[in-house]
Amino acid sequence: MNSSDSARSIGCSIALDGPSGAGKSTIAKTIAKEMNFLYLDTGAMYRAFGLFAIRNGVDFSGSWSDKGNDDKLISLLGSFDLDVRYVDGVQRVFVCGEDYTDFIRTNEVSKAASAVAVVSAVRLKMVELQRKIASGNDVVMDGRDIGTYVLPNATVKVFVTASPIARARRRYKELIDKGDVSHTFEQVYNDMIERDKNDSSRSFAPLTRADDATLLDTTDLNLEESIDAVRTIVKNRLGSCNKK
Ligand code: C5P
Repeated sequence: MNSSDSARSIGCSIALDGPSGAGKSTIAKTIAKEMNFLYLDTGAMYRAFGLFAIRNGVDFSGSWSDKGNDDKLISLLGSFDLDVRYVDGVQRVFVCGEDYTDFIRTNEVSKAASAVAVVSAVRLKMVELQRKIASGNDVVMDGRDIGTYVLPNATVKVFVTASPIARARRRYKELIDKGDVSHTFEQVYNDMIERDKNDSSRSFAPLTRADDATLLDTTDLNLEESIDAVRTIVKNRLGSCNKK
């Protein structure tokens, strides 16, 4: 079965892909709420497995090209019981019954998520669950490979990006707003560039724009303008969705 076959049974789907800090998740959440669609943050799933691996002794301090952890990660997948639930309309990720949601937004977990996301067996497990969620719902999904691999027949595809400096500034501000002052701006910038490189260069389902995705550069847009731009793209494309 190829990726197109398995995605055929979905309803309306909006795929937002792009690198971190481009604004995808806030845009996706807002659009999903306005349209009464389910919002699925697929990055949270990779983050949950990254944290699960850290808690099970996997060390991600080595270089991205270090394949030393792959066997351990594949064996951990067997006991990784991931559940995506919605509590008061907000997505939460549970691993083996424990709510991981509040612990997956650190820089350490970001690096672990990007490292585990290179392993094909990990991706296949996540993609299976993502497609299962999409098959029963109208969804807005954000990630890196939604338009290219997870939902190749998505009704609307947008590739959201921004300059590396703009994205790093947003990430840094998020950390500061959360009270996390443990990283300098340079560290946040460098980590982000490294993660972009790792996400774009993996061989299986890398971060890339789908041929039929609309490109949205949010460098010079504020959040409201970015949301508005996606609203317009969605509105123009919805004719191809049989439910609207
Ligand atoms: O979007 P977020 O920053 O939470 O994603 C964390 C990491 O998970 C990304 O850097 C990427 O490596 C991985 N990811 C992925 N495919 C997705 C979503 C996230 O590889 N669909």
